Amino acid sequence: KCHNELVRLRGNIRVFCRVRPVSQDELNAAEAKNMVTLDPDDDAVLHLSNKGKGMTFELDKVFPPQATQEEVFQEVQSLIISCIDGFNICIFAYGQTGSGKTYTMEGVPENPGINQRALQLLFSEVSEKAPDWDFHITVSMVEIYNETLRNLLGDNPSEKLDIKMCPDGSGQLYVPGLTEFAVQSVEDINRVFDLGHMNRATACTNLNEHSSRSHALLIINVSGFNSSTGHRTSGKLNLVDLAGSERIAKSGAEGSRLREAQCINKSLSALGDVIHALRSKQAHIPFRNSRLTYLLQDSLSGDSKTLMMVQVSPMDTNVSESVCSLKFAQRVR
Ligand code: ADP
Ligand code: MG
Repeated sequence: KCHNELVRLRGNIRVFCRVRPVSQDELNAAEAKNMVTLDPDDDAVLHLSNKGKGMTFELDKVFPPQATQEEVFQEVQSLIISCIDGFNICIFAYGQTGSGKTYTMEGVPENPGINQRALQLLFSEVSEKAPDWDFHITVSMVEIYNETLRNLLGDNPSEKLDIKMCPDGSGQLYVPGLTEFAVQSVEDINRVFDLGHMNRATACTNLNEHSSRSHALLIINVSGFNSSTGHRTSGKLNLVDLAGSERIAKSGAEGSRLREAQCINKSLSALGDVIHALRSKQAHIPFRNSRLTYLLQDSLSGDSKTLMMVQVSPMDTNVSESVCSLKFAQRVR
């Protein structure tokens, strides 16, 4: 199936799955079992053994545990480049904590993920369009925790942000006070990512725990101007590392943990509802049901393009969460 064929068949929403490798610790634990097998004849099919029962899921593409960051990026780069032509794009990493969402989006220092690769690709693509076109690339970083937005590149990251309707009647949304940094080089990117990380870490005692309970968004704005024709373009790329999708035991959670769990459930199911409604061309799209879908409204609707990367762990201990994530994938596909 070539890319154009997929677009024709499936519209502007694509659902991929990435299976993370078995970790060294898991390998060392003798009782741990791998429950996931890929189909040797079809790279869009995944088989899972759930309590002795075989289940099959069909997606648009499945990345095996040995897929490299480069291979994953190869499959998403045409989507990313389209924001230069003025498309709005969302790429989400969905899955339980520990399934590899942050590895896919941020990556690790020696092997960066989609976020850094996307910016580098955009830099090289826009430089090829000079001198006819002059492009301006800015980035913002936002965290959504307990249904509130934080400006991760702002001077005061604990300040809460609002989402407002543009007063010009265009129906466009904007976030007053959201910091946008102009970026032109890898050094700029690293500086911005470091600042975002530092600000995310302040105001929380355990960053790992906190980051699994909040959504992290890297928002890249690409605007271009052609001085000879007067033509302008403006596209937006939203790269989203979602909060962990694991169901938190209702009996165990209380107080702030319960509220966190409710906020995550609400926003992840709102995201599923919105994509499902768009996919099935429903008249009413319930963008307003969460801050996440409201913020991304402009980038999910119209001729925008969405990629849902559903991350799964191959281990038997995680199998019920993997089933939930793959069911979510089937619902939005
Ligand atoms: P999540 O963000 O979903 O909680 P992480 O991205 O932090 O999960 O992944 C959990 C662990 O597994 C991390 O140590 C990460 O580096 C590792 N990991 C995840 N996916 C891969 C992969 N494809 N290849 C190598 N290591 C991975
Ligand atoms: Mg993470």
